[in-house]
Amino acid sequence: MKSHAKVVVIGGGVVGCSVLFHLARHGWTDVVLLERDELTSGSTWHAAGGMHTINGDPNVAKLQKYTISLYKEIEELSGQATGVHLTGGVLLAATEARLDWLRGVVAKGRYLGIDLEEISPNEAAELMPLLDPKQFVGAVRNKEDGHLDPSGVTHAYAKAARKLGAEVERFTKVEDIVRRPDGSWRVITNKGEVVAEHVVNAGGLWAREVGRMVGLELPVLAMEHMYLITEDMPEVAAWNQKTGTEIIHAVDFDGELYLRQERGGMLMGTYEKANKPWSEFQTPWNFGHELLEPDIDRIAPSLEVGFRHFPAFQNTGIKQIINGPFTFAPDGNPLVGPVRGLPGFWVACGVMAGFSQGGGVGLALSNWMIEGDPGADIWAMDVARYGDWATMAYTNAKVRENYSRRFSIRFPNEELRAGRPLKTTPVYDALSAKGAQWGVSYGLEVPLWYAPDAVRDEFSWRRSSDFDHVAKEVAAVRGGVGLAEISNFAKYAVTGEGAAGWLDRMLACKLPKRGRMTLAPMLKDDGRLIGDFTLANIDDGEWFIAGSGIAEQYHMRWFEAHLPKNGSVRIEALGQKLAGLAIAGPKARDVLAKVTRADVSNAAFPFMAVARMDIGMAPCLVGRVSYTGDLGYEIWVAPEYQRAAFGALMAAGEEFGIGLFGSRALNALRLEKNYGSWAREYRPIYGPLEAGLDRFVAYGKEADFIGKAAALAERRQGGKLRLRAFIVDADDADVIGDEPIWFDGAVRGWVTSGGYAHHAQQSVAMGYVPKEIADEADGFEIEILGKRHGARIQSAPLFDANFEQMRA
Ligand SMILES: Cc1cc2nc3c(=O)[nH]c(=O)nc-3n(C[C@H](O)[C@H](O)[C@H](O)COP(=O)(O)OP(=O)(O)OC[C@H]3O[C@@H](n4cnc5c(N)ncnc54)[C@H](O)[C@@H]3O)c2cc1C
Repeated sequence: MKSHAKVVVIGGGVVGCSVLFHLARHGWTDVVLLERDELTSGSTWHAAGGMHTINGDPNVAKLQKYTISLYKEIEELSGQATGVHLTGGVLLAATEARLDWLRGVVAKGRYLGIDLEEISPNEAAELMPLLDPKQFVGAVRNKEDGHLDPSGVTHAYAKAARKLGAEVERFTKVEDIVRRPDGSWRVITNKGEVVAEHVVNAGGLWAREVGRMVGLELPVLAMEHMYLITEDMPEVAAWNQKTGTEIIHAVDFDGELYLRQERGGMLMGTYEKANKPWSEFQTPWNFGHELLEPDIDRIAPSLEVGFRHFPAFQNTGIKQIINGPFTFAPDGNPLVGPVRGLPGFWVACGVMAGFSQGGGVGLALSNWMIEGDPGADIWAMDVARYGDWATMAYTNAKVRENYSRRFSIRFPNEELRAGRPLKTTPVYDALSAKGAQWGVSYGLEVPLWYAPDAVRDEFSWRRSSDFDHVAKEVAAVRGGVGLAEISNFAKYAVTGEGAAGWLDRMLACKLPKRGRMTLAPMLKDDGRLIGDFTLANIDDGEWFIAGSGIAEQYHMRWFEAHLPKNGSVRIEALGQKLAGLAIAGPKARDVLAKVTRADVSNAAFPFMAVARMDIGMAPCLVGRVSYTGDLGYEIWVAPEYQRAAFGALMAAGEEFGIGLFGSRALNALRLEKNYGSWAREYRPIYGPLEAGLDRFVAYGKEADFIGKAAALAERRQGGKLRLRAFIVDADDADVIGDEPIWFDGAVRGWVTSGGYAHHAQQSVAMGYVPKEIADEADGFEIEILGKRHGARIQSAPLFDANFEQMRA
């Protein structure tokens, strides 16, 4: 074994081997994979080997498509058969709600280049002869489904990597990982030590244990999973003989089942409701090629549905039941990327669909390690989407919920219950008493809307029970004044003598003067967005940043990686050390003036001013800015004072008819101002010009901010896309995000977010289209639930187009 390597990859399952292959293919050949046993000694060997392109997140779907397209290449390169059978498949809906969901999947496929087609149950039965069409209301055909040989694929990755110069050491168990003073890593094994610049944790079932070697508790948990294999079936033999083809894949969402042919019989797997975690606290090191005891009672309810939906199963025997463990992150997507605070330590774990996702994970991680950027939008897989709040017990609750809902519909207005409430703010009980309906953001409970007694969310793809109540919240803001809790923003304090210079380099905006705020895009080296913030200069040398709450860990990883080593700049993520309240509406200043002795007149405290002031008896930081696009204020307050500030504002607001509003109303309000938001409109694949944030970029400022050269090039060349707001001729359903945008009969763009703008009484969608058509007056359509609706670009905001209200 070599004593030094640029990269050590820990784990020889499908994921580790894919990472090794991609690193070598990308030109890093001084790389070694360490496997404690034979390759495929974790969950990989007993997988059912199914692969498919569909995923709830379109960016993950793209990487799944890439994974499937890769198998031919690694087979040719390695000479190792992968056993790929691209049979195609059917996705089945037994309810109308499921069919609506499937139509959304077909629609996404249009701009992802995934070939999906809605078909009738009878057409599905012609393709997949074992199903009873009477049990279904519709189906979708997917040509890119199939299965493969898990061991063959893993060995093909490893052999191809070796051919490119990478090394694989089997029977080499990593026992400890120690950081050296120069930042490199000592990877200590049962066979000696390797010093490496980078370490990748692809430990699969042991990813937690490998993480613990560097003091990291990763939010992953293994679950038991069962599939059965039947005896040979005459129906299968007859079909094979008649058509000369295998029986294609089927996913029966309402039965929570997946099926495919396995030799002369069938394989049927299920994600059962009565699920069971495996090795909740510690994965035994002596586990390897064993299977777990099958428990047919646990999967009996699913099998019952399966036997009804696929009647031929009633006449066949079960040859074998496989029960094996594999790992999940709380939301079921992989954990990939560099770990904040541990430079050179990378993770590629929690990959629950290794044969659909392993290639994409390897590609993204190798790009990231070599180029400094994953090269794709992988937010849905980024390890930074979790913070310290994703504890082991939280992970346990969420993984179990996610497993049991693997094939369940999640409606756009449906909030999942497990692991909640976890983080709450001091006004939680007070807002609950007012009817707050809670959602969750980065582990924190956030009020979505306020419901009268006995009214609750009715889960639906269409406008639902909250509609009229959200409309009232919006009316309270636009007509007088509303109050929202905004503690879910991320908040950062930046201090130190080097703070201004550092911010000038990190952020693309012009730095605001003392007592002022500005909108602050942050770019990567390639000139694309990595953040959008509000930056406040509280006092020269003391800066405050507010940004997207879900991206706190993501942004801190970036900030810390760019801090000067001399300690001249300090940045702290304030998390819930600072709570937030916002008031907005034409009467907002009247309310504020009643609770503070500070002069908040327009002259003394204009738009984008920031100052410390007391609200009632509570010391606060107040900025005159509002995401509602109205006259408004964001108020930051230590949690111990939040209730006092809340009480003072509500009491002062009474005479103006103050009303509470939640994040759904805030969404409705920001849509009529064409305001975008992080992770929806603003993502690391768009340039500031494309995203309409160029007006906040100080292209001419002296500081050589990160991404400046690329941003200037984008401005010169014009980029490719444009973010646009559309008015949609919707009926009873609005966009939720990821719908295709049609132009002149072809899909040309995609929706990032939208909803109903209650004050303007319009259905609004925001999304990206190619710049060539971005100023067309008509010809656009947006597809909602399988139906195309006329849409028009709304260049001026629907509300306060001249920005008079918010500056008044
Ligand atoms: C019953 C079942 C059916 C499945 N069906 C499918 C399917 O149809 N399609 C699909 O895509 N996925 C399926 N999966 C999931 C799939 O198996 C996983 O996504 C995949 O195996 C994850 O691979 P991995 O490389 O991350 O982890 P693993 O396969 O667990 O590999 C981790 C490797 O790391 C090694 N290792 C760990 N710690 C160390 C250490 N300290 N030193 C050295 N080596 C170490 C282990 O020995 C192991 O070989 C199924 C899983 C099960 C259990």
